[in-house]
Amino acid sequence: MFDHLFKTELTPEEEQQIIETTLKNYSEHLNPGFVQMKRSAKSDAHGVEWRGEGVWMYNIHGHRFLDCLGGYGVFALGHRHPHVIKRVKQTMERIGLYSQELLNPLQAVLAKEIADRAPGDLKYVYYHCGGAETNDAAFKLARLTTGRQVHVTFTKSFHGKTFGALSATNRPVLKKKFRPLVPGFFMAPYNDIDALKDYITEEVASVIVEPIQGEGGINVPDREFLNAIRRLCDETGALMHVDEVQSGWGRTGHYFCSEHFGIEPDIVSLGKALGGGLATQSAFIANDRAFYGRHLLGPNNPGATENPWWFTNTFAGSQLSCAASLASIEVYEQEHLLAKAREKGEYLKSRIADLVAKHPRTLKEIRGLGLWLGLECQTGELGAKLADELFARDILVAQTINNPATIRIQPPLIVEQAELDIVLNGIEDSVIACESVAKAV
Ligand code: PLP
Repeated sequence: MFDHLFKTELTPEEEQQIIETTLKNYSEHLNPGFVQMKRSAKSDAHGVEWRGEGVWMYNIHGHRFLDCLGGYGVFALGHRHPHVIKRVKQTMERIGLYSQELLNPLQAVLAKEIADRAPGDLKYVYYHCGGAETNDAAFKLARLTTGRQVHVTFTKSFHGKTFGALSATNRPVLKKKFRPLVPGFFMAPYNDIDALKDYITEEVASVIVEPIQGEGGINVPDREFLNAIRRLCDETGALMHVDEVQSGWGRTGHYFCSEHFGIEPDIVSLGKALGGGLATQSAFIANDRAFYGRHLLGPNNPGATENPWWFTNTFAGSQLSCAASLASIEVYEQEHLLAKAREKGEYLKSRIADLVAKHPRTLKEIRGLGLWLGLECQTGELGAKLADELFARDILVAQTINNPATIRIQPPLIVEQAELDIVLNGIEDSVIACESVAKAV
């Protein structure tokens, strides 16, 4: 019945039929807004994706795009890494999703492997399927083990779109039609050390912070800012919750972005790349302090062990997802990908810095760590124009949600030098195109 949808090679008639039914079904059964607003859907020659391989994404006509958007950070290993596929297939030969009753050995070994690579004394893992969901679970953990109901978050933050995560997010346009949200979230200014002490008090259960803000525009804070949060959390009993859903699991050239800043959080949330580019896997990892709350609630407080099911969900930590995450560790380590990401990131950033110096009318700044860079344009309109021009040159990027002047450049960590040069040439040509339009106007 659906055979044509599972073919690798299609006839031109099949291609046309799939494009037509995709657009029609998007409009009639998903949301017509997607078709009106998505950059790709506006261009029927390019709009429907069909195949992904390594750093390349192919549309239904076989036309390829260099993927520097990386599914907002999902594709650290590129599309369909063969080792991840192998591990998932091996697992499928034996078992699929989690029975919920028996113990799941892949969940258990993955938890230990994450803990072994985590900063400080982080060690207890809960799996979920997305970033917002794992953040919500971590807010509940913080309330449970501190007995407090207040959370501090930061300006320009993004933590997801469920009610809890949205309450922690600082983007008014995402929130205003959905109020009332969850009470108890207070926004402090990001990277402002002096302001912290007014917010992080003895009423606070947790402080959620992105170690580099993603949707806020790839904002790298001062090392001292994150360390000041750590200190104030220690003084007040609050938990330091670092949201590494986008920055973590290799993107900045370390498993944990916190490592760049020398901080040891009480809770870290992971997502996106954790599933090896193949599985929907997220998780938070907590230390004893966050898991038991004994620093506040006494030496015998049961903490999260009182009821282990308070933070679970049905699909989380399935064998298939855990197989994909374990495979990602094998690839990172066998291919030395984290060190390579740091080296390639430095190269890319320094070459883009040259372009920023050369084109100050369009470009303002390049920032970021590892292969997670934000290229800020002079205005939001120029950000959109630059993303359009890059798309027209078959390079996928996107503006950041809370700062549309900034486009994120986050290619897979497996990217090769020659591909980085394609990106650099594409950026330069696109900037020149933006500037020639501006002149003509
Ligand atoms: N936290 C951060 C830092 C993110 O960047 C995102 C998504 O972009 C999320 C949480 C939400 O993750 P998800 O979309 O998987 O719910």
